[in-house]
Amino acid sequence: MSDDSVIGPPRRRILSSDLCNVLETYLEPTQVGAVYRAYLFSAEAHEHQKRLSGEFYIFHPIAVAYILAEMRMDPQTVIAALLHDVIEDTTITKEQLGAQFSEEVAELVDGVSKLTRMPMESREQAQAASFRKMLMAMNRDIRVIIIKLADRLHNLQTIGVMKPESQRRIARETLEIYAPLARRLGMNGIRVRLEELSFATLYPSRYKILTKHLRLLREQRQNLLQGLHSVIEKRFQERQMPQAEVVLRERTCYGVYSKMLEKKNPKSPNRRHSFQEVTSLYAFRVIVDTLDECYKSLGIIHGLYIPSFKHFRDYIAVPKKNGYQSLHTQLMGYHDYPIEVQIRTRAMDEFAEKGIAAHWLYKLEENPEIALQHENSTNYAARQRASAWLRDLIEVQKNASDSLEFLEDVKRDLFPDEVYVFTPKGKILHLPNGATAIDFAYAVHSDVGNHSIAVKIDRHYTALSVPLVSGQTVEITTAEWSHPSANWLDFAFTPRARNHIRHYLKNMKQEQALELGKRILEKELNLHHIAFEKVSAEQKQLLLQTLQLESLDKLFSDIGLGCRMALIVARQLEAILNNAPPPPNNTPTPLLIRGTEGSLVSYANCCNPIPGDKILGLLTDGNGIEIHTLHCKHCTHLKSPEEIMAVAWEGETEGNFLIEIRIDVRDGMGVLARVAAALTEMQAGISTVNGSSVEMRGAGSLRFQISVRDRLHLANIMRHLRRLPEVVRIQRGNPLQPSEISTLG
Ligand code: MN
Repeated sequence: MSDDSVIGPPRRRILSSDLCNVLETYLEPTQVGAVYRAYLFSAEAHEHQKRLSGEFYIFHPIAVAYILAEMRMDPQTVIAALLHDVIEDTTITKEQLGAQFSEEVAELVDGVSKLTRMPMESREQAQAASFRKMLMAMNRDIRVIIIKLADRLHNLQTIGVMKPESQRRIARETLEIYAPLARRLGMNGIRVRLEELSFATLYPSRYKILTKHLRLLREQRQNLLQGLHSVIEKRFQERQMPQAEVVLRERTCYGVYSKMLEKKNPKSPNRRHSFQEVTSLYAFRVIVDTLDECYKSLGIIHGLYIPSFKHFRDYIAVPKKNGYQSLHTQLMGYHDYPIEVQIRTRAMDEFAEKGIAAHWLYKLEENPEIALQHENSTNYAARQRASAWLRDLIEVQKNASDSLEFLEDVKRDLFPDEVYVFTPKGKILHLPNGATAIDFAYAVHSDVGNHSIAVKIDRHYTALSVPLVSGQTVEITTAEWSHPSANWLDFAFTPRARNHIRHYLKNMKQEQALELGKRILEKELNLHHIAFEKVSAEQKQLLLQTLQLESLDKLFSDIGLGCRMALIVARQLEAILNNAPPPPNNTPTPLLIRGTEGSLVSYANCCNPIPGDKILGLLTDGNGIEIHTLHCKHCTHLKSPEEIMAVAWEGETEGNFLIEIRIDVRDGMGVLARVAAALTEMQAGISTVNGSSVEMRGAGSLRFQISVRDRLHLANIMRHLRRLPEVVRIQRGNPLQPSEISTLG
């Protein structure tokens, strides 16, 4: 039953004749001939090279090609695999490969070579950078990564000859990047082999102990498992389904290990599972011919023992993100062991093994009609989803400001635990585990994400930050005036959402810095009776020279960011103009705040000013102006007077302003939902909810962070809330904790 143990005695060397034998099982003789010519070409190119093990280099590309031939990959891929190191390690060029073989082969080999070459600044950086490159190469032709995975697999199979430190590096990189990538592409066959080899390399003693435990357990339970196996087979015979194939599968070492690493429960992160606690070490797989037979088999299986509904999953109706399809169920009551059963068709089984490589038809997207006739729709849909995923990643990486940030985001996406939720119209959306309503909003459309204000989950209002659970129906409320705010990054989980939010904030900041800086300077110049538009080009140039700046835009954005004082610039300009009349008085005219200045005008957390409040502005270093209420106790003494700026609200303000309100309530039952509904009814966007003792009966208090338009809006909201019978008292604001005071200013 552990027939597919991936680590055994050292592999026999693969010869070109072995490769041809496999190729002949699925390729035309002329195609096999073409592969053979590539072998001769590669052997000659690598003629005098040897690997660390001492054997001739050519055995490596042969082995890589063999792995791909076993996956029944197309001839171009196998040819490219034979040639995958010639550009990197010999004098052969890409152009030569193009002339000798085909453009397609040359591109593939070039793609693989580009992954091998990478700048080595720091190891982390290099890994991140090479990962970006890999995605770029994959985007051109996804077979590049399939070849790279086969290359990595053979390198791991022959890793024994390398230095221990290189062994560990390669194994770790494989577990972090390549294996998850293979999983994401549905290539579970190769993924399992990569994981087992890397695990054995990285943790040899853990690997040994687990292998031993698994072997002992297998011997112990052999009779039981064989008994059950024949019971299942017999039942299928009785029900006239002799074609059903029943296979017993054992969890891999790495599979057991990662299960043991999982947190026992979220509240005690240090408690892990012991070996004994890892259940479902064994699973029966039932493979049938048609989809209908899958559900019929499910009935047969459920008739044998009692199924556990908690563990039932229909991945046929709702396939996994990587295209995986199968029915999963768990039976209780066979000698007290829960028994997992997976039911799928032969095509689904092949797909589960090979994923995107299952049935290669190149350039499928260009010819979907033909593709549909040739491929079954599952494979086609899976490939389309993989392409969509790639396009998304490429989009994300274009905007990511540095590689590490990008790698972090993608790693989250690669670890595959996912939830599926429904739109109000019943459409299914897949999101990674941990995703929140804001991720959902961006998954629907970037416009929905950018204007989200509230969310209903299963028809109840909830905070945008609450993680989603499979099966929920999620409905986003949007408002034109609402925009992404920086605090969304605290709970946005998917690369897509994070990227959109960052992108928005970054763009806004640049544009807004310019506009705000210009307004501040003009306001300052007004005091000095200077009209900026009347200053001549030469004088402006002189000012820039004095300030050692290259452009006016830079000057404006410096002022807008708070890096440069408008007052000083104004004095310098005054000096340049020289004959300007002196200002008659110093009454400062305030800078008017519209609410549309974006991230450069920020609203202080200590007092949360909203339009209608009396306010003042504090200049910050590089982050623009921070608005406080005039009587905010926690800022005035922290800054020197010249850093305080007179500000006032413009008559018409736009946008939403975060404040905190505290609502004391009488009775906890259902009151949270009612208060949240009332808030949303009043168009107050809810960012976060904190309740103390609201789950209990009796008095409690709720703290909401909500966004409002102005004081009037807030007053209306409060009046509306007071009508709820449970509400005892409402208070605005958040009295500062003493510990927070020092972080201000
Ligand atoms: Mn190689």
